[in-house]
Amino acid sequence: MGIKQKIIMALFKKLGVSRIEGLLTKQRSLGTMPDMLLPTSKSPTRFEIQLEAMKLMEEGNDIVMPNTFPAKRMLSIMKNINLSVDSLDKNPIGPAAVASIEFLNDLRAFAKSHGVDPLEFVKLPRDLIFQHMGVLYDNAVILAMEMSQELIDKAPSQDTMNMVFETYDELGIAANKIAEFLREKGFGAQADHPLGGLVLFPPLAQKAGIGFVGKHGLLITPEFGSRVRLAAVYTSIENLPFAEQNDHSWIADYCSSCGLCIRGCPPRAILNESIVHDTGQTTNIKQAECFEYFLLNYACSLCIKVCPFSKKSYSDIKTSFEKTR
Ligand code: SF4
Ligand code: SF4
Repeated sequence: MGIKQKIIMALFKKLGVSRIEGLLTKQRSLGTMPDMLLPTSKSPTRFEIQLEAMKLMEEGNDIVMPNTFPAKRMLSIMKNINLSVDSLDKNPIGPAAVASIEFLNDLRAFAKSHGVDPLEFVKLPRDLIFQHMGVLYDNAVILAMEMSQELIDKAPSQDTMNMVFETYDELGIAANKIAEFLREKGFGAQADHPLGGLVLFPPLAQKAGIGFVGKHGLLITPEFGSRVRLAAVYTSIENLPFAEQNDHSWIADYCSSCGLCIRGCPPRAILNESIVHDTGQTTNIKQAECFEYFLLNYACSLCIKVCPFSKKSYSDIKTSFEKTR
């Protein structure tokens, strides 16, 4: 085992399996709290990133890890996942259910001041809540945060990895701040962290009309292509302007004619044809294969880098594609 890996192992041990398991137990306790919306038999099972990382580290005596894991960011991420559960105690009793247009504009401005843009509203279907988890309200505010073009272009690299974890962390902090902002105005709120979320974000964001899920399983948006991370806040506000349509469904046809991420994925973790799980959920990603490569290769991100939407403008791609149909 190389020196870098020894340091990483030591950091992981410092974090402690028990601490990670404690966090997961805390999140799962949401599924036993009164008045929570629970998953259905069709809901997906969450891939437990932190536990899988521990397993790989402990088993991987012969693996080579060139990167330095951004452990400080990971500690902050865990702190903010904890906060998203602990802060539920601060929700007002008898929360308000109606918000003015002015307030929603203030909410967007507040979110933007914390790096969140776009932000949209959607009714959360219970089928997207992960097994064993619980969500307080089905009124979802979907949050997106851009990842740096320059650093995605450098993928895979240490700088890219640092930026990926920084974005997860900053978006998680923003989600908690937005929940706090809502509570201060008398609304109930629950933040959902982008790493270790309670629901499957990409299809929820697609339902919110923010973009469309590509073959690589990530959301493609008009503003930033695939270079976004997603999170959510669930709120007691019932009169949100929920999305009613999605204008980006042409992307599915475009993906069928593209396939660059499928060919560009080193462990061949992106499939052309979807896999249908027992629950009925479909995916094109072999998560275990992707995650192992991601962890051992600077947070990989090659599928984001090669995606044409990460480089060219959405409207240019759409115009050219329409000419071919
Ligand atoms: S992050 Fe890397 S390993 Fe994972 S799907 Fe994308 S290209 Fe493949
Ligand atoms: S690289 Fe091509 S196939 Fe993959 S998500 Fe992007 S547009 Fe779709």
